[in-house]
Amino acid sequence: MVLDDLGKSLKGTLQKIASAVTIDSKLIKEIVRDIQRALLQSDVNVKLVLALSKKIEKRALEEKPPAGMSGREHVIRIVHDELVNILGDSRELPIKKQIIMMTGLYGNGKTTSCGKIATYFKKKGLRPAVIAGDVHRPAAYEQLNQIAKQVDIPFYGEKDEKNAVKVVKHGLEKFKRSSDVIIVDTSGRHKLEDDLIDEMKDIFKATKPDEKLLVMDAAVGQQAGSQAKAFNDAVNITGIVLTKMDGTAKGGGALSAAAEVGAPIVFIGTGEHARDLEKFDPSRFISRLLGMGDIKTLLEKAEESMKGKDAEKTARRMMTGKFTLHDMKEQMSMLSGMGPLNKIAEMLPGGMSGKIKGIDMDNTQVKLAKFKIIMDSMTDKEMDDPSIVKSSRVKRIARGSGLENKDVKELLKYYNMTKRMMKGFSSNRKMRKGLMKQLQFGK
Ligand code: GDP
Repeated sequence: MVLDDLGKSLKGTLQKIASAVTIDSKLIKEIVRDIQRALLQSDVNVKLVLALSKKIEKRALEEKPPAGMSGREHVIRIVHDELVNILGDSRELPIKKQIIMMTGLYGNGKTTSCGKIATYFKKKGLRPAVIAGDVHRPAAYEQLNQIAKQVDIPFYGEKDEKNAVKVVKHGLEKFKRSSDVIIVDTSGRHKLEDDLIDEMKDIFKATKPDEKLLVMDAAVGQQAGSQAKAFNDAVNITGIVLTKMDGTAKGGGALSAAAEVGAPIVFIGTGEHARDLEKFDPSRFISRLLGMGDIKTLLEKAEESMKGKDAEKTARRMMTGKFTLHDMKEQMSMLSGMGPLNKIAEMLPGGMSGKIKGIDMDNTQVKLAKFKIIMDSMTDKEMDDPSIVKSSRVKRIARGSGLENKDVKELLKYYNMTKRMMKGFSSNRKMRKGLMKQLQFGK
């Protein structure tokens, strides 16, 4: 897997967020430090790392999660988005008839990438072909020929010809009608020198390529930035192919540095075979690196266990007898979801259950929804102390909620019953313990 170590550390960090009970500044500072360490280890530029971590910290501390998103989810989203930002804009090579010129220094994987990109377009249903325009490296002709054979793609080259422009022109003529995507390999050098630039420009004039791709070995790390810039200044590259991402821990540095140049990374090479090429999509790349799929599952699990904790708190509060209508309303969505009142009623020993016989517990869920509407029509004072709700208030509340007096009375009855029942529990430690255990709330 590409950037294995970085992925592992970032996943660990995200898991910390996903399973945290509360997202506080201490946790945020801790995760920002984790992210800094992970990025520096993968060779991302120090300044970039500092700017990024500052931004993550600021956003995580100051921004409120959007509606429907938990705090944990929100912080994970921020980390994801900010990491995507440092990878720059994404660009996808169009799936259409075109000429692609390949550039890059020796040994960076240019010839191998010709075969990979040809395979990519072949899989998309187009007819690719390759031209051996690297006339200086003796083995280049044979190597591209071999690769073309392996991936079953037409090849054109002239073994002893030293004029690259001539070879390329002949090749283009040959494939004019029979191919859709013509990939032109060009000479590499050990470093970008004037004669290489001149030759690239000549081939460029003769070829009029739609795309000029720069192939770069990711192991160069942060130097990817200056290399990409030099090539970009010379021939205005339209995309970067970052190779050998499978074999370097510096990939983070190469990715972020290359992205800064302004020419988007279009592919990453992830192995020696023709199939080892990935379209580069920053958002998808980061999602996979962070293991967002797993994180999503983890978040769901965390949400569930949090619900459990809230339920426990509610149950404890109810049992101490400190239970107002505010509490009841606040917890209503949760209560209606898990029906703990029903559960409690079912578990009551004979004597106790008798006391709530007057209430139709089967319809509790439906009634809870009705009760919520009624409580919306009550004042804070009434909610805090429902004992003040006498007949005139009952009438007013019923009118306000569009329901009948008897509905309001039923709510009060339900509330009083529940409260009494809870008080009963609170004075009977043994029973309380048993109930908590049955509800699986622990001790
Ligand atoms: P060129 O001089 O730029 O044409 O480079 P080559 O295409 O000859 O590649 C140089 C070496 O790098 C070869 O041994 C390739 O097999 C290897 N190579 C190229 N791309 C990748 C890649 O993405 N991953 C790995 N592991 N090796 C690669």
